[in-house]
Amino acid sequence: MTAPPEPGVGPQPTLITDPADLRAALRGQAVAFVPTMGALHEGHATLIREARSAVPGGRVVVSVFVNPLQFGPHEDLSRYPRDLEGDRRLAGAAGADLLFHPDVPTMYPDGFSTSVSVSGISEPLDGASRPGHFTGVATVVLKLLNLVRPDAAFFGEKDWQQLAVVRRMVRDLNLNVDVRGVPTVRETSGLALSSRNAYLSPEQRAQAAVLSRALQAVQAAYARGERRRAALRQAGLDVLNATPDLTLDYLSVVGSDMHEREIMDSDSMNRVLVAARMFGVRLIDNMPLAPPATLSQPTLSSPTVSPA
Ligand code: AMP
Repeated sequence: MTAPPEPGVGPQPTLITDPADLRAALRGQAVAFVPTMGALHEGHATLIREARSAVPGGRVVVSVFVNPLQFGPHEDLSRYPRDLEGDRRLAGAAGADLLFHPDVPTMYPDGFSTSVSVSGISEPLDGASRPGHFTGVATVVLKLLNLVRPDAAFFGEKDWQQLAVVRRMVRDLNLNVDVRGVPTVRETSGLALSSRNAYLSPEQRAQAAVLSRALQAVQAAYARGERRRAALRQAGLDVLNATPDLTLDYLSVVGSDMHEREIMDSDSMNRVLVAARMFGVRLIDNMPLAPPATLSQPTLSSPTVSPA
């Protein structure tokens, strides 16, 4: 039986663990889908609200599955935050109808031996730092898309390379789904919301906002007309270098192919991405690079400069 809704919170989504029940619940409906690993926060809620408005009379499915395939052997799989009841409340309040929460043997039965790997764009950055990560992501996303069969699926720009990998897989394999990217939701400090922020104290979170300030410094240099990769990078490094307790993994300025080039052209997909370890937690973030008139990052407080 479904629990009664709490006042102002919205109804609880139906919890489904069995793929056959999921298919039965979705038959004949327009479906919007938000795949997650749970420990939901306002970033996830934004994706769910977008999904809700995409299919007003249809079904919004949120999956919660901590996918072992995308964690390396020394990563945080066993301690990854889990809070199914909290997830159910948050997903319901944001407009989800169904919460799909399969267990690991359902997703990966004995003898599971297929994987999906997307070459090229999945190789630099997180692909280099986390071998096998994007193969794990592509494999689980393809499985989830096959189980849910959504019309549209929503992914955060917070995981920019993941979004690019998913888009490429969907295109290459002719999957019939509209992949929608949603801008990153941030704390007022600029820190990108992440389930892994739960590992940090409030003081540590405040310090971790340095990552977004470094990205903004690169944005500002780009907006001033700087196009040399090394100089753009240095603008960000100048911010990060002053920070104790930070081990940089990468700070990269890339085009739509996820690769660096010495001189950035005017590709509207140019992006600056950062990954760093702070207080034992690996954090990632990214921002678009664009001339001032087209800069769309909501947290930027610098005044808009009119083109001369
Ligand atoms: P995760 O649970 O970390 O696998 O994330 C599930 C989805 O939520 C992914 O598409 C993420 O990119 C997205 N997401 C996570 N954090 C944020 C955020 N701060 N803003 C927007 N989307 C996010």
